[in-house]
This record gives sequence, structure tokens and C-alpha cells, in this order.
Amino acid sequence: MRDDQVLSGAAVRKVYETDAYTVDRNPPLAVVLPETTEEVSAIVQWCRESRVPFTPRGAGTGLSGGAMPALGGIVISTKKLTKLLSTDLENRTMLAQTGIANLRITRMVEGDGLHFAPDPSSQSVSTLGGNIAMNSGGPHTLKYGVTVQHVLGVRMVLSHGEIVQIGGRCGEPPGYDLLSLVVGSEGTLGIVTEAWIVLTPIPEAIQTATACFPSVREASQAVAEIVKSGVLPAALEMMDRAVLDAVQAAFGLEFPSATQAMLLIECDGSPGQSSDDLHQLVEICKKSRAIEVKVARTADERMKLWTARKKGVGALGRIAPTVVTHDGVIPPSKLPEMLEEVYRVAEEHGIAVANIFHAGDGNLHPIFCFDEREPGKVDAVVKAGEEIIRKCIELGGSVTGEHGIGVEKVDFLPLMYDEASMALQGEIRTIFASDDLCNPCKVIPNAKGCIEHKVRWRGVAT
Ligand SMILES: Cc1cc2nc3c(=O)[nH]c(=O)nc-3n(C[C@H](O)[C@H](O)[C@H](O)COP(=O)(O)OP(=O)(O)OC[C@H]3O[C@@H](n4cnc5c(N)ncnc54)[C@H](O)[C@@H]3O)c2cc1C
Repeated sequence: MRDDQVLSGAAVRKVYETDAYTVDRNPPLAVVLPETTEEVSAIVQWCRESRVPFTPRGAGTGLSGGAMPALGGIVISTKKLTKLLSTDLENRTMLAQTGIANLRITRMVEGDGLHFAPDPSSQSVSTLGGNIAMNSGGPHTLKYGVTVQHVLGVRMVLSHGEIVQIGGRCGEPPGYDLLSLVVGSEGTLGIVTEAWIVLTPIPEAIQTATACFPSVREASQAVAEIVKSGVLPAALEMMDRAVLDAVQAAFGLEFPSATQAMLLIECDGSPGQSSDDLHQLVEICKKSRAIEVKVARTADERMKLWTARKKGVGALGRIAPTVVTHDGVIPPSKLPEMLEEVYRVAEEHGIAVANIFHAGDGNLHPIFCFDEREPGKVDAVVKAGEEIIRKCIELGGSVTGEHGIGVEKVDFLPLMYDEASMALQGEIRTIFASDDLCNPCKVIPNAKGCIEHKVRWRGVAT
């Protein structure tokens, strides 16, 4: 590797000490920028021989601390693994290196009427490798599924430096379904360097509407009614008043003053089907006491309706210097009860909260806005997050909808699995990564230093 592929020094260590879960930090020794699978393999072999931990990293937008180098060591960045290797338009597949940004894939094929369907709200920067490692979803997951449904195969480097191929351009590999194991493994089973992905036709017609409600309860009841109706929207997203206030201040968007929550609804398919579907869902919103419904008539109007959703998280930076996005999932019918609990917990801990999330999937994202320099605040945020996750489980949901376990939720997995299942998870990790160097302390605490890391950043070993 060339010298310019190795970054070190105080500034670099500071930049790479965290990802978008900014409350947990630890600096790496250095960052390396390989350009090929073989270079990744050589770095991993060096790390193994030198007993140095390594952490794969894409764009660092992960929200559970997955790309944070918990035990220091080397960050292996995919920043320079950005080549498109081949496109097969006839069979709607592509082979690309995994440092490529999600949206760049779509930009390269949209002229051919295709797109990469997984669309995390971070898609302009988050990488294909990060999306694969986190099995990411997005606003259109409701209809199009998560990343695993759009990946046919991967080439990856295991923790001893071996290069393996799992699946391939035709998908459906014989034998055990290792591809499903690797997708969503949060960089703990190795580093994915290349992937064969599925390209999906852009829908013929897209119809979009927003509906404003006088209370969060009424908006979430409308979501439950929509899910019950059997009409499947492509997207069904919710934003509460705190988010709308932030986008109003940032972008001058207007909402009726009585609005406490807004739904964004999108239907797609043939022109007739998508209009009929949207019409039915708008009627449900009206029956659920929506105070204003707007239906986009042009592509520009559609993009305007999406503004609050697309830019809402960024606009929250106006409220407080630190924002931490939580993630949990519940059956959508439980949304009214769950959201009441979110507001109650935030108030009890004295933290401002805003909600912007994939309501149709029941995938919550309470966002805590605070100043981490205030004594006790980080602890309060962590505790409030834990209470919310416990409520998700009580309501029949899960500890994460799409942001993964990372370091943030390592203590929560045992709340969902019994001892035997936890042991199986640990054994699977050991088969892929028999030592504890590959992204340690994520998903399952797998190294002695994990407890020390936790004591260092939280002051407690829970
Ligand atoms: C504003 C904002 C909006 C978001 N919206 C969504 C959303 O709608 N849906 C959603 O699911 N997520 C969302 N996220 C979370 C995040 O963007 C996704 O998890 C994304 O897939 C992470 O990609 P990344 O390239 O930034 O990965 P990173 O954050 O760099 O890494 C994430 C994890 O993947 C591992 N990893 C990265 N690359 C590789 C690789 N090549 N091989 C093996 N492991 C690897 C890392 O070790 C880490 O554990 C959002 C985040 C932000 C900040």
C-alpha cells in the first residue's frame, strides 16, 4: 500500500473516534484506505499477526456505534473501494465495490429506468458495505424490503485474511444460507469488499400526500387503520411537532398551527392503481380527523412534500448541539401506546425528544436532543433509551428496527434470546472470526477489553 493510504495523527484519531452514535468514543491508532480486496486481506493478516484489533468503516453514519473502534487498533475504511465492476442491465444486477455510496448506485442506472431500492435516509453518503453490514432499510422498506432482499452475493475478507465468495450473481446459493448471515452482521464476521446487487425498476407512477393531525395519537391511529386496510403504501412516515418546528425554522415550510403530527404517504405502481391506493389512504386519514391533506400534483410538489422527512433530522441540529437517534420496533397497532411512553420517558429524564420515523413498519426513531457537556445528560439519555427499548419488547417488538446492536445495545440481546440462542450466536461469530480482533465489542461482547471500554465511557459496567 502507498503512504497516502495510511492516515494517522491527532486530527485523524479524533475524526475516527466515533460514528453517528456520538456519545461513545475511542480513537484508533491509524486508519487505512485499501483499494482492492487483496489489500484488505493483507491488512487483516497484518492485524492478526500483530494482535491488533480492526474495525471496518464505511461512511460512519451508523447510529449504534458499530464503526467506532472500541478497543482502538486499525480502522479499515472503504473510502477508496468505490469502483463499479460490472452492470448487467438485462438481468438487472450490478457488481460493485462496497465503499460506493448508496445513492450513487441509483444515479448510475436511473437513466435505464432502474434504482437500488434500499433507501436509508442517509443514502446520499452511506455506503453499500454499511447498508449490507446493517441490513439497512429506509422509507420504502414497507413495500420493497430491507437490504438483504437486494443482495445476491458478496466477496469478503474473513478475520484471518482469507478471501471468500458467498452467493454470486444468480443468488440462491446451495447449502446453508450464509449470505443472510453476513448481511446484518455489523462488520463482526469480516469485511465485505464487493457485492452483487439487484436493481429494481423505477415505478411507472408515484403518488404522494401529507396529512396533518391535531395529535400524535390520532396520527398513529391513522397508521394502524392504514395497515389494517390491506392497501400497501410504498412509504408511510411520521414526523411530530418538534420535527415540524425545526424544518419550519430551517426551510420556511408551513403547517396548520394545530398540527401535532404529520404523515407522509406514498403509493406507487401503475398510474390507476397508485391513484386509487392513495385515494383510499387519504380517506382513512380524513376519517381519522386529519386537519389538512395535501396531494402532490407534480414532481416538484412531491419533492416539497418530502422535504420535512428528508431534512428533518438535520434540522434538529438547531434544537441542541447533540442528537442521539434511538431505534426500536413494535407492531404498528401499538404505536399510540408506544409514543405516549416515549414522551413520558423523555419528560421524566428532562430531555427534549423529537420523533421522525418509519411508521408503517412500526419502526420508531425517538431522537433525543441535548447538550452532552451538561453533567449527567449522557447518562440520562442512555437510561431513557433503555426504558424505551424495554417497552418495545413488552409490546411484542424488538430492540432494533434497523440501526443494529453495535455497542449501544449489547446488553439488550439477552432480553430477547434465551441462553442457548445467545450461545449459538456467539459460536457463529467464532466460526467466522475465531479470535477477538474483528470489530470487537459489537453485537456480542467478545473480548476482555469490552468491559473496560464500557467502564471508560460510561463509568459503569452494567
Ligand atoms: C441522518 C441519518 C439517517 C439514517 N437513516 C437510516 C434509515 O433510514 N435506515 C437505516 O437502516 N439506517 C439509517 N441510518 C443509519 C446508517 O446510515 C445505516 O446503518 C447505514 O447503512 C450505515 O452505512 P455507513 O456506510 O455509514 O456504515 P458505517 O457507519 O461506517 O458502519 C456501520 C457498520 O457496518 C460495518 N461496516 C461498514 N462497512 C463494512 C464493510 N464493507 N464490511 C463489513 N462491515 C462493514 C461497520 O463496522 C459498522 O459496524 C441513518 C443514519 C443517519 C445519520
